[in-house]
Amino acid sequence: RAKAAHSPEPCFYDAQMDDAVRARRELVADLRNAIETRAFELHYQVQASLPTGEIKGYEALVRWNHPTRGMISPACFIPLAEESGEIVPLSIWILRQACVEAALWPNRHVVSVNLSPKHLGDPRLVETVRAALVESGLPAERLMLELTESAIIDDRQFALGQLQALKAMGIAIALDDFGTGYSSLDVLRSFPFDCIKLDASFVAEIDHDEQAVLILRSVATLGRTLNMAVLAEGVEQPSQLAIIAREGCSAVQGYIIGRPSPGLVDPEHVKRMMMLKPHTVDANAARA
Ligand code: C2E
Ligand code: MG
Ligand code: MG
Ligand code: MG
Repeated sequence: RAKAAHSPEPCFYDAQMDDAVRARRELVADLRNAIETRAFELHYQVQASLPTGEIKGYEALVRWNHPTRGMISPACFIPLAEESGEIVPLSIWILRQACVEAALWPNRHVVSVNLSPKHLGDPRLVETVRAALVESGLPAERLMLELTESAIIDDRQFALGQLQALKAMGIAIALDDFGTGYSSLDVLRSFPFDCIKLDASFVAEIDHDEQAVLILRSVATLGRTLNMAVLAEGVEQPSQLAIIAREGCSAVQGYIIGRPSPGLVDPEHVKRMMMLKPHTVDANAARA
């Protein structure tokens, strides 16, 4: 099921091509108004450490409540915003909103914000992030930025400079969707990532594919060697959670411990879900 969520979804159901093109154009126009009309909101999905089940942080995931089309998936409108140039204003709104909301959380959890490739390419990004922290009062140590490899392949030198400046402020950086795209070792070696997020499409295979387990194990080892946390995304099944814990991943995110939602989750609930194991997990092996 994790796989289905990551395959391209149809955004428009119009029968005619013309209608689809028109719908798309209208949606781009709507994107422009959506920030002012407060049509976007952030949902949060919990991330927990292994093997303790302690909450590590929350990933902010944007939602668009469209006046006539209802909830539209970010998998539809983020690419549209990227192409139409609306992504930078949207991305700034997301960053500021996530910092403001996280600053009010009762516990000092980290908020992880997805950064679009275009925004990483914006020379004002570092100033925008600094301003979002100052305005909200959120300490830099409580912000993590997630980016995919596609964000750094265009102008590697520039991307590296941006990330180093953000790191110097105390912000953590995660490599999102690892295992898809290039997954190049060179990127892991040259960029200052704190966390590798293993893609859900990969996690979906581990309970029936021994090769996938061997690769998972290697990525976990690589993470320990490079001093980067390895978080498995899209974990839905107790069997997947057991394998991920056994193979030494340091964190987990997925429906099994919590779906994205407007509010935070009960830490005791997360711990209980983490104990839903089909067979005993060796906590020492997971820590080694
Ligand atoms: P992502 O950053 O890799 O986020 C993970 C996606 O997997 C989220 O989908 C999340 O709801 C979904 N997910 C989490 N656990 C499970 C699970 O156990 N099973 C399944 N089937 N799915 C799970 P969502 O919220 O629809 O977001 C999709 C993508 O859209 C994100 O992938 C990210 O690339 C992009 N996106 C979302 N919010 C933002 C944002 O604020 N800014 C930017 N630039 N991109 C965003
Ligand atoms: Mg992400
Ligand atoms: Mg991801
Ligand atoms: Mg993704």
